[in-house]
Amino acid sequence: MQIIHHGAVNGVTGSCHQLDINPLHPSSYLIDCGLFQGAETAGKNSVDQLQIDFPIDNINALIVTHCHIDHVGRIPYLLAAGFNQPIYATTATAALLPLVIEDALKVGVTRDKKLIQACLNQLNKLIVPIEYSQWVSLPINLSPHMTQPFKQIKLKFKPAGHILGSAYVELDLKGPSHKHRVVFSGDLGATYAPLLASPKSPYRADTLVIESTYGDKKHQGRKDRSKQLKGIIEKAVQDNGVVLIPAFSIGRTQELLYEFEHIIFRNQHNPMWQNIDIIVDSPMAANFTKKYREFRNLWDNEAKQKLKQGRHPLDFEQLITIDSHQDHIAVINYLDSKQKPAIIIAASGMCTGGRMSNYLSRFLPKATTDILFVGYQAQGTTGRDIQQYGPQGGYVYIDEQRIDIKASIHTIGGYSAHADQHNLSNFVKRMHHKPKHIRIVHGDDEAKQALASAYQALLPMAEIEIGKA
Ligand SMILES: [Zn+2]
Ligand SMILES: [Zn+2]
Repeated sequence: MQIIHHGAVNGVTGSCHQLDINPLHPSSYLIDCGLFQGAETAGKNSVDQLQIDFPIDNINALIVTHCHIDHVGRIPYLLAAGFNQPIYATTATAALLPLVIEDALKVGVTRDKKLIQACLNQLNKLIVPIEYSQWVSLPINLSPHMTQPFKQIKLKFKPAGHILGSAYVELDLKGPSHKHRVVFSGDLGATYAPLLASPKSPYRADTLVIESTYGDKKHQGRKDRSKQLKGIIEKAVQDNGVVLIPAFSIGRTQELLYEFEHIIFRNQHNPMWQNIDIIVDSPMAANFTKKYREFRNLWDNEAKQKLKQGRHPLDFEQLITIDSHQDHIAVINYLDSKQKPAIIIAASGMCTGGRMSNYLSRFLPKATTDILFVGYQAQGTTGRDIQQYGPQGGYVYIDEQRIDIKASIHTIGGYSAHADQHNLSNFVKRMHHKPKHIRIVHGDDEAKQALASAYQALLPMAEIEIGKA
């Protein structure tokens, strides 16, 4: 058995791992097929970033951990390369995936409706929705002329607490003489995340492939982040400026809405909170929010409790959703001319494009603006540059235009949707049968190194490796 990586080895983006169960007669499974972003696209033209540059004829199935674009964005190219095998995902991910792929195609590839529909039809044909915690047998390529180390392979998804539908993957490999359990973490959620419960460790893993986004960090103040959020916003709107929050349309946007509903509910006599416009400028995010409401059976107890009390944790009067591009431009002009406070949530989460770019171009040069980062900003993204150069009065390039930063920059760490070092250690510590082999992926170098040291201290006998391309 061997595991090769087609992404998420030099950074956090482009997740795509291949589990090969028989090196003599290739028979493989692909775990995620994501897009590269930020620094990881440097030196490659856009076509090269997207090409599937490995043979796919021996791949028996694609397994999707969750539908963030850096885990699923290369699926259209996989299909275009002729991939015609089942695509396994949790029920919620299967419901979200076509929306994500449709948007990715529209934004990055083509406006041709027929082409988009053809791709979606193919995707819908191949996708196999699976409930959490159910074992299913995967197709296996058994050549009669070869000795097969494994005769059967089964898959199970367990909740990862990262975004709606997110899962870590357990793969059970059974041969005539031995068994082997491989676990792919996907992206793991942190403790005390809004809306979703944090992940529980698997019972066993022989080999573990694990993300390390915050492998060198300890999350601070997760419990009082909503106080922090409230404080920053109350200060920010005093000068009638806008507050821009770059956020992924899936996950982060819904967490923020959940928090704002909470703050508004708690501050019923505060006119600012009762009147402020909270604008979600993204038809995509609005669609995903609907799906989050639809799949409320996957929410954590606190969120379900609010439902029971008659509250609507993802909805409130002050919420405005912007759909058309025309309205999007109109809102920017309106806010610009009126000097009226408002909170705007828009993608992309790392400011690498999308409607957030238009807000940044217009409002970064204004001293009354506040930018609030609530998520990880990968190296080489505009978001990371704003975080780094903004506080010194620097500038960034957006759409090849130099934009001076006069806005105030804030970061709240408590909303990170990824496990920190403590959570990642616990994920392994709480397994009954601990891995003999750990492969660390999906992180910057320092994060991977720090996590490797933590695991080595925890499991001195285990082989701890850092994934390489
Ligand atoms: Zn993710
Ligand atoms: Zn990821």
